[in-house]
Amino acid sequence: MTLSVTVLGATGSIGVSTLDVIARHPDRYRVHALTGHSRMTELAEQCRQHRPERAVVATAEQASALQQTLRAAGLGTEVGWGAAALAEVAAAPEVDVVMAAIVGAAGLRPTLAAAQAGKRVLLANKEALVMSGALFMQAVQASGAQLLPIDSEHNAIFQCMPGNYADGLARVGVRRILLTASGGPFRNFSQAQLASVTPAQACAHPNWSMGQKISVDSASMMNKGLELIEACWLFDAHPDQVEVVVHPQSVVHSLVDYVDGSVLAQLGNPDMRTPIAHALAWPERIDSGVSALDLLLTARLDFEAPDPLRFPCLRLAREAAAAGGTSCAVLNAANEVAVQAFLDGRVGFVDIPVIIEDALSRLPGEPVRELEHILAVDHSARACAEQWVRTRGTSC
Ligand code: NAD
Ligand code: MG
Repeated sequence: MTLSVTVLGATGSIGVSTLDVIARHPDRYRVHALTGHSRMTELAEQCRQHRPERAVVATAEQASALQQTLRAAGLGTEVGWGAAALAEVAAAPEVDVVMAAIVGAAGLRPTLAAAQAGKRVLLANKEALVMSGALFMQAVQASGAQLLPIDSEHNAIFQCMPGNYADGLARVGVRRILLTASGGPFRNFSQAQLASVTPAQACAHPNWSMGQKISVDSASMMNKGLELIEACWLFDAHPDQVEVVVHPQSVVHSLVDYVDGSVLAQLGNPDMRTPIAHALAWPERIDSGVSALDLLLTARLDFEAPDPLRFPCLRLAREAAAAGGTSCAVLNAANEVAVQAFLDGRVGFVDIPVIIEDALSRLPGEPVRELEHILAVDHSARACAEQWVRTRGTSC
């Protein structure tokens, strides 16, 4: 039986890797829908190769242009646009698997729609879970969706957990989760050097090739902060049970520490096709195209503690996780605005944590009521961070 797959965010780094794995297994997977927000030429090319029934883009203009291109190429793909169409292709009855690979808060509604519809959800879009953790996990429980982590660390943790981990970490003998972090391109930079780094430097990750936003998050270590929150939701862990360890080689993707002293780790070359293939085929294993790990070439594995002074984003995320409620949605929204402002050259790299801390202090966490509440908080936090960017914090 072939599984029908929707790829949300097909034109991005994770989307492209997903289609690479799918193309290796035409007997197992067929593409139902592909979505993209920009890079229309690439999306058209993906449609030619994978022949989906549906494609979804951002605007009506993009949709009619893509529809024409695909018709001229003899394809029957129906092109839609906007938020409702995204949710539709995520929840369509004929879909078995949804790869949630839109970046940022924009992915929340369609990812949640897939969870509510009981799909196998391959979660790359960590921001969706960070914003709406409790609601999202409730939706998964209620519908019986299968939530499989794509983030390499969480996929590694999932692989190192016993099958019954949902019974509770203490019950299954897990003491701690050890989340590894590469440390990003500025691992050895001084505070003074960090003050003048450029977007191009921030996006040049030493080990992984990724989209711009997550690259900047990796450089600031907010990525690890978001992942800490993500781990708490996925594995029902308290933030104190998740420890971050800097591991510059990115070969050990994360570890689980058990009460008897055993520590299980998952290792591999840093290539997202491994967790993607794992989650697509789970509980089976399929070829991902990733080469075998050469331990002799790797030679050494280093570990060090993260520096809270140079990388305050990790502390901010830990505090938001402990505060709970809407705090993580505030953290995420302010971070998205700060990262975009940094990429646009409007603020410096070291302003990113300042902007986030300012928003967190202005918008104290409230218990989460419903999705509309989270979206309203997201909106307020963005306004707060935008104001900081416009005035450099002087009129907030
Ligand atoms: P990317 O920027 O390369 O791709 C993002 C995708 O989302 C693109 O297809 C883009 O068109 C689409 N998109 C952007 N804005 C949108 C909007 N407003 N509405 C609808 N679609 C929109 O990002 P990426 O690196 O592939 O990351 C995607 C997600 O996966 C992120 O949440 C990231 O944190 C997570 N992730 C990525 C990696 C990686 O190696 N790239 C690893 C782990 C987790
Ligand atoms: Mg990761």
